[in-house]
Amino acid sequence: MSEPSVFTRILNGEIPSEIVAETDNVFAIRDIAPRAPLHLLVIPKTAAYRDVVELAAGDPGLLAEMVSLAKTLAEEHADGDFRLIFNVGEGVGQTVFHVHAHVVAGRFSEGSVGG
Ligand code: AMP
Repeated sequence: MSEPSVFTRILNGEIPSEIVAETDNVFAIRDIAPRAPLHLLVIPKTAAYRDVVELAAGDPGLLAEMVSLAKTLAEEHADGDFRLIFNVGEGVGQTVFHVHAHVVAGRFSEGSVGG
């Protein structure tokens, strides 16, 4: 077994972070290094999928739940418009291999999201 991901450790209360939203299958936190006025992470509770490609193939309904929570959060925390970013692979800056969506609204800072 590999080590639990940072997100699993947050979900289990082992690493402090404010959980801004939670459903049966998905939760959301604030990114610790925000690149925009709103920068949240929407994360499935299961760590079974390392990226969105695996998730889409394995559980498209769970991916749809993530998108739905992202929309709700963008409406609650911004004006409803948002970018949804999934990094896939180290080469584009993925650092946590427990699938997560970056929910970004407002003006971007320089640099890539994540990484
Ligand atoms: P990625 O580069 O797409 O894998 O995104 C991982 C994201 O997780 C980065 O944007 C990090 O800033 C964020 N991150 C890492 N550790 C934490 C943490 N303890 N709390 C909140 N966000 C984190």
